Amino acid sequence: MILLKSERELELIRRACGIVRELLERLAGQIRPGIRTLDLDMKAYEIIKTRGGESAFKGYRGFPAHICTSVNEEVVHGIPGERRLEEGDIVGVDVGVRVEGYHGDAARTFAVGKIGKSAQLLIEVTRESLREGIGRFRAGGRLSDIGAAVQGYVEAHEFSVVREFVGHGIGRDLHEDPQVPNFGEPGTGPRLVEGMTLAIEPMVNMGKPDVRVLEDQWTVVTCDGMLSAHFEDTVALTERGTEVLTNA
Ligand code: MG
Repeated sequence: MILLKSERELELIRRACGIVRELLERLAGQIRPGIRTLDLDMKAYEIIKTRGGESAFKGYRGFPAHICTSVNEEVVHGIPGERRLEEGDIVGVDVGVRVEGYHGDAARTFAVGKIGKSAQLLIEVTRESLREGIGRFRAGGRLSDIGAAVQGYVEAHEFSVVREFVGHGIGRDLHEDPQVPNFGEPGTGPRLVEGMTLAIEPMVNMGKPDVRVLEDQWTVVTCDGMLSAHFEDTVALTERGTEVLTNA
């Protein structure tokens, strides 16, 4: 069931999203060759706590860290640890914050130092595909319009979208109905109406779309070992139109 949010609930989601936004900005400033992904996690913990929120990921189905860090061929759900980022890597940073029982969720993929042209293009196309998807989140449309727009944009650039993991509704729960795939035909599924809050999150592979989960039970990687990028925003449909709550 898709839960529509009241103005009061939206206000709490906005607060959580404000912390998410600040967190991503501050983590972006930390990313450089030599830093451990665990350092990013510790920094995130500190910032979230200072702001009066809590990590929505820590302990979620047993997830062991406060944020997800996914390097290179890792698609999503990478666990921060001793790994040190290297010049030329790309790293997806996914953060979820809860404030007074409501959630915000967003991700960005960052370059570590100087990266190759194709990696840069992958990041840009993924970021832009999120914008395309958000552009279809408007009253009167259908849910599948979002995924169709993401897929169309990504495939026009000869990259591929991941099928096994999808975006989601968000609110009192981190993951609510509906699922928001990054693929499909437009014009089907639930009608988009005011009060909906979605986390839209394209995961884009440079090579084939296939992914698998590592033995740690969390880290999702591309089967062909090629790069993958991930961008996500929490977006609300309100009387003011489409509001991207995790992006200024
Ligand atoms: Mg999400």
